[in-house]
Amino acid sequence: MRVAEQTTKRNAIVTGSSRGIGAAIARELAEKGYNICLNCSSKSGLEHLEHFASELEDAYGIKAICCVANVADAPSAQNLIDCCVSAFGSVDVLVNNAGITKDGLAARMKEEDFDAVISVNLKGTFNCCKAAASKMMKQRYGRIINMSSVVGVAGNAGQVNYAASKAGVIGITKSLAKELAARNITVNAVAPGFIATDMTDALSETQKAAISDRIAAKRFGEAQEVAALVGFLASEKAAYITGQVICIDGGMAL
Ligand code: NAP
Repeated sequence: MRVAEQTTKRNAIVTGSSRGIGAAIARELAEKGYNICLNCSSKSGLEHLEHFASELEDAYGIKAICCVANVADAPSAQNLIDCCVSAFGSVDVLVNNAGITKDGLAARMKEEDFDAVISVNLKGTFNCCKAAASKMMKQRYGRIINMSSVVGVAGNAGQVNYAASKAGVIGITKSLAKELAARNITVNAVAPGFIATDMTDALSETQKAAISDRIAAKRFGEAQEVAALVGFLASEKAAYITGQVICIDGGMAL
C-alpha cells in the first residue's frame, strides 16, 4: 500500500469512472488520498465498478463506494451526491466526466441522438453541479472540474451535438465559477484532444492515423495525462485558478 500525499482527508465523486479517463482520474485521486465515489450509468457495470473500488482501497488505503446513477436524470444525480455525503460526510471534489458521443453529419442527425448527447454531457454536468454546489457552499470549500473537449472549443464536422454539449459545459463552468468563487469553490473545465479510450477506439486505423498527423505531438494522449491535470485542479494548491478551460491536446488546437 502506498502512502497518500494529502494531509486533509477529502472526498471526491468522479462521474463515469468505470473506464477510460474517469477511471484514470479516480485512480489519481485515490493515490492522492481522496475517498472516492465511483459512478457509471449501467447496472451491468456495477460488478466491475465494485471490483475497481476494492482495488483502489487495497492499493491506496482510502475508502471507495459505488453508485449507479444516470447523471442526465436530476433525481439520480442528486442521489449520487447524497450517496457520497452519507458515506463520507462531504463532497469536496466533483469531477463531471461522464460523457457519450452519437456522431453524424448534421443534415442526417436524428433528433434523439442530438437530445441524448445534450442530456448526458450538458444537462448531466448541470445536474451534478447543482446538487454538489449546495453542499459545497455550506462547507465553504469545493473543487468542480468539468470535462469539456477541444471539439467544444473549435467544433468538429460530424459532431454538432457533441460540440454543442461541450461548448455548453464551458458556459456552465465560467458562469458557476463567478457564482461560487466567494465561497472558496473553484470551477474549471478540462478540454482534452484525442485520448486513447473506448470512445476513440471506435475510430478506424485510417482515421486514427489522419488525426495523429494533425496533432503537433503526433500521438493520442493517455488517460493518465488528463488525470494528472485533474489531480492538480482538484488540489488545495489550485485555489486561485477558476473559470478556466485548460486544453490538453498535444498541441492539436495550436
Ligand atoms: P468512455 O471510455 O466512453 O467512458 C465513459 C464513462 O461515462 C463510462 O464510465 C460510462 O459508463 C459513463 N457514462 C456514460 N453515460 C453516463 C450517464 N448517463 N451517467 C453516468 N455515467 C455515464 O469515455 P472517455 O473517452 O473516457 O471520455 C470521458 C470524458 O472525456 C467524456 O466526457 C468525453 O466526452 C471526454 N473526452 C474524451 C476524449 C477522448 O478522446 N477520449 C476527448 C475529449 C473529451 P456506463 O456506460 O456504464 O454508463
